[in-house]
Amino acid sequence: MDGQVIKKVVIAGGGTAGWCVAAALSKMLGTLLDITLVESTEIGIVGVGEATIPTIKTFHQLLGIDERDFMRSTNAAIKLGISFDNWTRINDHYFHSFGTVGKASWMTPFHHIWMHAREQGIAGDLGDYCLELQAGEAGKFEVAERSRLNYAYHFDTNLYGPFMRRISQPHVNRIEGKITGVNQDAETGFVTAIVMESGQVIDGDLFIDCTGFRGILIEQTLKTGYEDWSHWLANDSAWAAQTPTVGQIMPYTSAIAHDAGWRWKIPLQSRVGNGLVYSSKHLSDDAAHQRFLDLIDAPPLTEPNLIKFRTGRRLKIWNKNVIAFGLASGFIEPLESTNIHLMQSCATRLVQLFPFSGIHESMVNHFNELTRNEVALIRDFVIMHYKLTERDDSQFWRDRRDMEVPETLAARLAMYRDAGHAYQAPDEVFRVDSWMQVTTGQRLYPKGYHHVGQMIPRDDLEQALKNMKADIDRKVAQMPKHEDFIRQYSAEAAPVG
Ligand SMILES: Cc1cc2nc3c(=O)[nH]c(=O)nc-3n(C[C@H](O)[C@H](O)[C@H](O)COP(=O)(O)OP(=O)(O)OC[C@H]3O[C@@H](n4cnc5c(N)ncnc54)[C@H](O)[C@@H]3O)c2cc1C
Repeated sequence: MDGQVIKKVVIAGGGTAGWCVAAALSKMLGTLLDITLVESTEIGIVGVGEATIPTIKTFHQLLGIDERDFMRSTNAAIKLGISFDNWTRINDHYFHSFGTVGKASWMTPFHHIWMHAREQGIAGDLGDYCLELQAGEAGKFEVAERSRLNYAYHFDTNLYGPFMRRISQPHVNRIEGKITGVNQDAETGFVTAIVMESGQVIDGDLFIDCTGFRGILIEQTLKTGYEDWSHWLANDSAWAAQTPTVGQIMPYTSAIAHDAGWRWKIPLQSRVGNGLVYSSKHLSDDAAHQRFLDLIDAPPLTEPNLIKFRTGRRLKIWNKNVIAFGLASGFIEPLESTNIHLMQSCATRLVQLFPFSGIHESMVNHFNELTRNEVALIRDFVIMHYKLTERDDSQFWRDRRDMEVPETLAARLAMYRDAGHAYQAPDEVFRVDSWMQVTTGQRLYPKGYHHVGQMIPRDDLEQALKNMKADIDRKVAQMPKHEDFIRQYSAEAAPVG
């Protein structure tokens, strides 16, 4: 019994999303499928999206990607976290690192013990106990096994798609040109083919919509619908441009708040990506453009590009025989750099749940449910950065501070405020370490906490914390500068095979 109903996969769009799905399907299931990817160089890609989170390393490992090859091919630098400025109050600073903070016990995460020690006057800042945070702030990095650092990358978005295209060989048939039409089955509404400007008709069993904000299949054709989250995440616009490197190449993204949003700095090996994100209700496009030019560290290498977006999610990312990935599936503003993670996570899920025996509602529902949950958890984490502000200097920040947040987030914040308990939900990408660094960084101090720390004799606790900090300080002192690391690592030959 053959039993394979779905064999011909057509990927519409060749941005980061299109080529990541193509690479995942071709590497894992390539000989079982017939994969075609259609892209238009004339339309091009959105041209932003250069910061990632550590899950990208797992995705690359699954695809057998050599790290040096990837870093050289995409001008990648290391990211140990995000440096936040001006979020809760003007001149506040904190660092959300990817690292583990302190040492947890099976009873409680580390922060309960830290809070007790802090009250006793024997603990430093939370960040003193996190290697990635200290290395990040110091501009240091090393890849040696002993350091076991949790890290991600900054890379050139224009080079990542072509890199993934190379990884997709030899199983993906690429077709260049514009999609001008979509054919559907008259009875079921399933997509049967896409039609190219050249007149070519490309038929398939399963269609992956990676056409970016256009959502040619999932929205323009299937009218799937969109859940708007702009009442929680009000930013809807960004100016973006590249600048030359000024000073050291630091291993973190900068997220610097301004009175109607925030701006990013993403250092790569070769240049810096910059963007000014804002709410167009609170700042005009022209004023934002001027502000962007005033705030960047050097004259731009590229003409600033205006990007408009709407935060939210497609009501179903899998509808009939179309699955949307990347911007076609929805968008959470880029504060925690989670969109590439989401598309790679969905690509892995598709490999795991590939519908060889046909499209069955039960599985479509399961796939959609897993994805909805995953996205909502990230949404809550991002909203928290705005909700916890104390800024009173602009309408934008007052609106954020006073907004009603999703019930799921309200419940988590209440439990933390009352009892100091934070947790990582099933399928959630952000660990307790992340929740702690952001809540503490944004001045949310709980009224209570778990008392396990009182079980430890005061002198022992003080010594343990001192040792932990000294160990981290010693390791950071021994690490090379991040930019020296990149220079040396990228120059080393990739292992053969
Ligand atoms: C301001 C901003 C900042 C961001 N920052 C980050 C970040 O730091 N980290 C992160 O993880 N994510 C970030 N993102 C998200 C990230 O940019 C996207 O997730 C990523 O680039 C994927 O885009 P995409 O492939 O879905 O769409 P696109 O890059 O828009 O690609 C669409 C593809 O479809 C093709 N296409 C469209 N119409 C047609 C047609 N008619 N015929 C043929 N082909 C067609 C295009 O040619 C292109 O190949 C950011 C997004 C924005 C808006």
